[in-house]
Amino acid sequence: MIYVTKSYLPDLDEYTAYLKGIWERVHLTNDGPLLRQLEDQMKEFLGVRHLKYCSNGTVVLQMALKALDITKEVITTPFSYVATTNALLWEGCTPIFADIRPDDFCIDPDAIEPLITENTQAIMATHVYGNACRIEQIQAIADKYGLKVIYDAAHTFGASYNGQSILSYGDLSTCSFHATKVFHTVEGGCIVTDNDEMAEKLHFYRSFGHRNDDYRSVGINAKNSELHAAMGLCVLPKVPELIASRKEVFGYYDSRLDFSKITRPTLTPGVDYNYAYYPIVFDTEETLLRVMDALQAQDVLPRRYFYPSLNTLPFVKTHQPCPISENVSLRVLCLPMYPGLSEVDADRIASVVNEAVALVNID
Ligand SMILES: *Cc1c(COP(=O)(O)O)cnc(C)c1O
Repeated sequence: MIYVTKSYLPDLDEYTAYLKGIWERVHLTNDGPLLRQLEDQMKEFLGVRHLKYCSNGTVVLQMALKALDITKEVITTPFSYVATTNALLWEGCTPIFADIRPDDFCIDPDAIEPLITENTQAIMATHVYGNACRIEQIQAIADKYGLKVIYDAAHTFGASYNGQSILSYGDLSTCSFHATKVFHTVEGGCIVTDNDEMAEKLHFYRSFGHRNDDYRSVGINAKNSELHAAMGLCVLPKVPELIASRKEVFGYYDSRLDFSKITRPTLTPGVDYNYAYYPIVFDTEETLLRVMDALQAQDVLPRRYFYPSLNTLPFVKTHQPCPISENVSLRVLCLPMYPGLSEVDADRIASVVNEAVALVNID
């Protein structure tokens, strides 16, 4: 079976060496030494000032909204994983969906401005598939109207824009280290800021709003454990190699897929990509479903990222039409993409896709 992704696992001995230390110290969680080591290494790797390592990539979105005191309308993207919208709804905010750009599927800055009202407080955008949003345009709108910018940068670990980690942009930026992401710690996430006060606030938020007897603010449990941090310490040094291997897989698909009937989203100029996903777009949903069936028959399981368009979720009460997102989400499929996917397998997957697409176009 070939799934859309396959988690990288480090050498077991390397992980158990860290476990030995944990067993000796009996310090399992709560700001442990491995967690701090991982935070330092990640800050260095990404070149960012403050980074709080947390339990997942969803709670950090919630913390971002809380930390910026966002409670009303937030202009957001309909083309993301459901966690982006969930975080807004969970925090009692009202998501207002702005449509996406037809070329790279990130939020369209031109669609943001007409949606701004006196209740708009922030823009929450996703760097889709690890490609950067139109950061300058979004910042210009935010500056003009006094809005905060939060980036769901869950896909961007290892990707940069104009020479800086994509995680370094916006008022706050969050990442996910879930097992399926480019860099993972089994479960995990982080929130990034270059503001010292904000970092301190987030540090308290992460563990119930207090440190010992110093009860400073409301908080949540967003801590992560030493066992997760240990996985991170094993995987982080491998990230450059893992991205290089993803790039090779990218090359296999690029050279074998027939692009007369398939398109691919574009990259924003200035992005150094991390090859997080391999999305392809078909002419119709019917073609997509046929391709999925053909792949499934070969025990290959691609995924529909992102589907459905989040503005159409049944539990969302605000219904801005987003025709581009609604249309793209019906036609986009992410092919298996992970380090070490073999050339033979990529070749086979590309052939199945090409044949299924060609068949649809005959009947
Ligand atoms: C994976 C993902 C999340 C959620 O991260 P978790 O660590 O699984 O909570 C949020 N947003 C996007 C865009 C994601 O891809």
